[in-house]
Amino acid sequence: MELAHALMDAKQWLASCSPADIDRLRSICLDIHEAEKRLMHASESYLKRCIQRCEGLCCRNVFLGEVMGFEDFCFILVLRPECFEPLFSKASRLKTMFTADCPFLMNGVGPCSLPEAVRPEVCITSFCMQTPDADAAIRAVQARFRNLSRIIRWMRFTRLFRRRIASFSA
Ligand code: SF4
Ligand code: SF4
Repeated sequence: MELAHALMDAKQWLASCSPADIDRLRSICLDIHEAEKRLMHASESYLKRCIQRCEGLCCRNVFLGEVMGFEDFCFILVLRPECFEPLFSKASRLKTMFTADCPFLMNGVGPCSLPEAVRPEVCITSFCMQTPDADAAIRAVQARFRNLSRIIRWMRFTRLFRRRIASFSA
């Protein structure tokens, strides 16, 4: 249920954001989306290996909590809010607290059912092989996700701070 909770938290948190905050998040997420597109292009030959030789082992029998979480879901839902229902329904069916195949694999086998270049950070930046042609693009995606995390933390902190101030002065 960890994934379903993270997904629900992301949806609720986004619903509580001001339009100005959503605009700011959207611009950061669009930037990540573009960086993911460039990475997919740069890593085409490596991704072929993932699909053809090992059939996406990275999406199977993994600790899903270590692969994606709240901030990844914020990224996905800012760009594709319509994904919430199908993702939540798949994540809610997951019963294990341990390793599992990712519930977002299409029909349980793959490929990934998420929209192209709207993938969690770990999914798109982790390879088991040397990736000299894609290293710069990987770093670019990671740097943008770090920026998104910083902004989300800052937004949550300032909101909490404002609430505290309001409760003291009430
Ligand atoms: S990164 Fe390696 S283990 Fe993961 S799917 Fe690709 S080839 Fe398979
Ligand atoms: S979200 Fe997609 S790429 Fe990531 S583990 Fe799940 S199926 Fe694989």
